[in-house]
Amino acid sequence: MTVLVVMRQDATPEDLRGVVQAIEARGYKAHPIPGGQRTAVGVTGNRGADDAPVFEGLPGVLEVIPVTHGYKLVSREAKSEPTVVNVGGVLVGGAEIVVTAGPCAVESLEQTLIVARRVKAAGAHLLRGGAYKPRTSPYSFQGLGEEGLKILAAAREETGLPVVTEAVDLESLDLVERYADAIQIGARNMQNFSLLRRAGRARKPVVLKRGMSATLEEFLMSAEYVLSEGNYEVVLCERGVRTFSDFSRNTLDLAVVPAVKGLSHLPILVDPSHGTGRRDKVAPLSRAAIAVGSDGVMVEVHHDPQRALSDGPQSLTPDMFDALMAELRQIAPVIGRSLLKRD
Ligand code: PEP
Ligand code: MN
Repeated sequence: MTVLVVMRQDATPEDLRGVVQAIEARGYKAHPIPGGQRTAVGVTGNRGADDAPVFEGLPGVLEVIPVTHGYKLVSREAKSEPTVVNVGGVLVGGAEIVVTAGPCAVESLEQTLIVARRVKAAGAHLLRGGAYKPRTSPYSFQGLGEEGLKILAAAREETGLPVVTEAVDLESLDLVERYADAIQIGARNMQNFSLLRRAGRARKPVVLKRGMSATLEEFLMSAEYVLSEGNYEVVLCERGVRTFSDFSRNTLDLAVVPAVKGLSHLPILVDPSHGTGRRDKVAPLSRAAIAVGSDGVMVEVHHDPQRALSDGPQSLTPDMFDALMAELRQIAPVIGRSLLKRD
């Protein structure tokens, strides 16, 4: 897309249909983007801005503007109001802050239920946990697969917490789409373009984690892949990038939060667990994430971290998570927000 067709405030539904038809008649894809003030229609699949004058002349069109970034649909130019993503009834990206918590990996029904009950009691809004784990070593625990997804569904059934879980390839994405409330695309797959396209055709929201050496431009481009296929429900997640720092697993790039807010309408979460790799740093960086304007945090919690099958050193105990929630409740009002109320 190199252009955005902005509709007049008084444009009728027929005007909008006419614009969409004109775009499609030229073999391009039309992406209507409704907003509070006005509707815009993003055009993708075209080669240049040559046909801008054609769209300009259509009824109901206010103006046709060129989009200056490589990414289009995710940009603030395309949509000025923040996008609020509905994950199983939990709204991410609104005024209220959302906390996603749970184990790194689903290890058993018992483990998942113990952790899910504790994070629910502490006030978490979404349950996380991997059934498919992208591990550095092929000999490490790879996750329980579909069995893990069934366990997550059981934990949701009991606690009412919607589930966010990772898909690592096309096959697991089919299953994750069926069982989960949001599909996580992990850091290692942030530029797996066929997976991103498939996620773009999914009927569930996507939580897209930043690649460990991805620039902001690359991060937003990856989100653009998902939106370009028609799935506008994307939540970004900063999880730390590789640097020379030798005191933490990654360097949590908190400055990316206000940067994303300036360039994109998509919500963003911060994952201080993978961002630091050490449980003693998770609470301080979670507090900072909320203070810097993140729409929420994603935190790993395990009832017995010593025996966790993955990421034990960065997992909070349930007691530590209780304390963190109490802190976040105090910090949110300082920046005019609050933690999402749960019924
Ligand atoms: C995870 O969330 O458990 C995970 C594997 O994260 P990342 O993709 O950010 O490493
Ligand atoms: Mn993990």
